Amino acid sequence: MRDGLKSREASAPAAAPDRAIPRDAANPEASSGIESFDAVVVGGGPAGATAAAELARSGHAVLLLDRMGRIKPCGGAVPPRLMADFAVPESLLVARIAGARIVAPSARSVDMPVGEGFVGMVDRETFDEWLRDRAARCGAERRAGSFLRLEPAPEGGSLVWYRPKDGTAERCLRARVVVGADGARSAVARQCLPGASVPCVYAYHEIVRSPAPGTSAYDGTRCDVHYDGSLSPDFYAWIFPHGETASIGTGSMQKGFGMRAAIGELRRKAGLEGVETLRREGAPIPLRPLRRWDDGRGVVLAGDAAGVVAPASGEGIYYAMLGGRLAADAAHGFLLSGDARTLRRARRRFMRLHGGVFWILGIMQHYWYRDDGRRERFVSICRDRDVQQLTWDAYMNKELVKARPLAHARIFFKNLAHLTGLARA
Ligand SMILES: Cc1cc2nc3c(=O)[nH]c(=O)nc-3n(C[C@H](O)[C@H](O)[C@H](O)COP(=O)(O)OP(=O)(O)OC[C@H]3O[C@@H](n4cnc5c(N)ncnc54)[C@H](O)[C@@H]3O)c2cc1C
Repeated sequence: MRDGLKSREASAPAAAPDRAIPRDAANPEASSGIESFDAVVVGGGPAGATAAAELARSGHAVLLLDRMGRIKPCGGAVPPRLMADFAVPESLLVARIAGARIVAPSARSVDMPVGEGFVGMVDRETFDEWLRDRAARCGAERRAGSFLRLEPAPEGGSLVWYRPKDGTAERCLRARVVVGADGARSAVARQCLPGASVPCVYAYHEIVRSPAPGTSAYDGTRCDVHYDGSLSPDFYAWIFPHGETASIGTGSMQKGFGMRAAIGELRRKAGLEGVETLRREGAPIPLRPLRRWDDGRGVVLAGDAAGVVAPASGEGIYYAMLGGRLAADAAHGFLLSGDARTLRRARRRFMRLHGGVFWILGIMQHYWYRDDGRRERFVSICRDRDVQQLTWDAYMNKELVKARPLAHARIFFKNLAHLTGLARA
């Protein structure tokens, strides 16, 4: 532990000089003198940056390792609950969304106004950097490099091997605890929890320059969500405004599905084929929390690395930040007690809070995203005021509203009627 929080916050110290050590670091003599941290956080996205900030705030010596240089492909939609729970200033928002338009395969659409409040949109380039910078202001040391592997350290804890971004030789650090927050298909998870794998949706989007107002049906305060098998056979496609730019994307679990062609088609339908394309990029979205987030020794996972993205919606930023916070809290407990069982707390607490909603969303995705007939009915359900209200309440506040049991019951029976075909689209 360090009590240098105040001084670190006032002025981030220059990074300690890196020390390349020989590959036989597992030998105690060779490894003595290795830079040591209480915690090394691998990955500086929302999960890792949050974990690093929280651990540093608790007074631990923390290193935040991120490979840097790539903007995370992301729609960037965040709920107000995120801004409140993680003290994120509204100045980071590039757009405020007042409603969603849900579009069926037949092109019928339903508008769902948010009502009170708004959905925030962030630009991941500035948002993630702001979070990493906050971690540094809280006392974490930042370093640019790619994680390579972990080895047990002879004195206890782990040796974390990484390749510095400046191209110099592999280096290693000693950590009493490691937080693996290196995103979907995490190298830390692959190494520490062998065999643990998560089904992923592969998502692709194009960042385009927003059209001038009035030149198309595009509305910079509305998110469009398309449930249409030709745009995504098993997920959905979207148009999300980001102020001066917009994200037009789709996702699918089907290998070989032509995502570029689907986005070309969506852009044509939306009258956006002519606007300038700034970036084309893609990334996997994991859709099921791993059964274990820790290795029982000194490594705990957070965010996409732990598989934590809401099924059906693909929402992951809020859950990554919460996962980062819970992983940091569990790691703090472990650093104080030395009892590695404390690390299990992160998953247990997360699933207690959100496991039920993830389960319901998983079932929704399974039933409603199967074929265009079901998608058509799903969009019909979205016309219902109770459905709209509960959807927004659940999204904005991250809680199922228990105060309206009659509305829940009505929705349950309407769902059943649509599922069994008693109600038609
Ligand atoms: C196309 C797309 C659209 C999405 N839209 C939304 C949306 O609108 N709203 C929403 O809430 N969620 C959305 N998501 C999901 C969301 O982006 C993720 O759930 C979220 O970014 C997870 O945060 P994370 O910190 O766990 O991982 P990431 O954001 O992936 O961060 C991982 C970090 O680890 C670093 N890293 C990776 N490997 C290494 C390594 N070997 N060494 C060092 N560093 C490493 C990376 O540089 C990165 O900074 C979307 C995802 C995609 C792909």
